[in-house]
Amino acid sequence: MLAGRSLTANGLSRGSAGNLSVREGDHLLMSPTGSDLGSLVAASLSVLDFEGNLLEGPRPSKEFPFHRAFYRRDRSTNAVVHVHSPAAMAVSCLEPWTEWSAIPPLTPYFVMRVGQTPLVPYADPGDPSQADWIEAIPFPLHAVLLQNHGAITVGRDLAEAVDTAVELEQVCDTLLRTAGLPKRLLSQETAVRLAGKYGRHWTLGQPAAVPPAHS
Ligand SMILES: [Zn+2]
Repeated sequence: MLAGRSLTANGLSRGSAGNLSVREGDHLLMSPTGSDLGSLVAASLSVLDFEGNLLEGPRPSKEFPFHRAFYRRDRSTNAVVHVHSPAAMAVSCLEPWTEWSAIPPLTPYFVMRVGQTPLVPYADPGDPSQADWIEAIPFPLHAVLLQNHGAITVGRDLAEAVDTAVELEQVCDTLLRTAGLPKRLLSQETAVRLAGKYGRHWTLGQPAAVPPAHS
């Protein structure tokens, strides 16, 4: 699996931290629990149906529910990548910029390749309430940060989901390097224009509120 190696090479996944999945018709291929993304081979993947039943292969990651949430949200999503990469993980521990994006529009490539990225309220790993929250987000989505945990990105294929994870890690790194300094952001108008041009989403003004945190 080149995508797994690419995640490892980019410093996005160390050891067994993170997982990825791909939609194949009615099935989901997913990295098994505790797997090293750098050495995944097709034969080692778990094959599941969308109910979460294991059809073939080893036990899947317990983070299956939020993978499924993204496939349910959007028929054009065919791959989901979840990483515990250092900068995204650090930013996931900070207060979000706004309710609908943890990260402000700092760079054009963040807006063009990732788009607004909400912070999903904390839940224990594998808790399905985060999946419910993700499904209910009322705007198009290519990435989220999971509070105090890491990042999830999606794509039409695995290469796009990995590229989005790399871009997200980069903008999180920029956010950390500029922490506490007076910042110039892209204007809302620029963010909306760029995002729209590249098939991403940025809302002008206040979007419909994100769902309340699960209690
Ligand atoms: Zn995780």
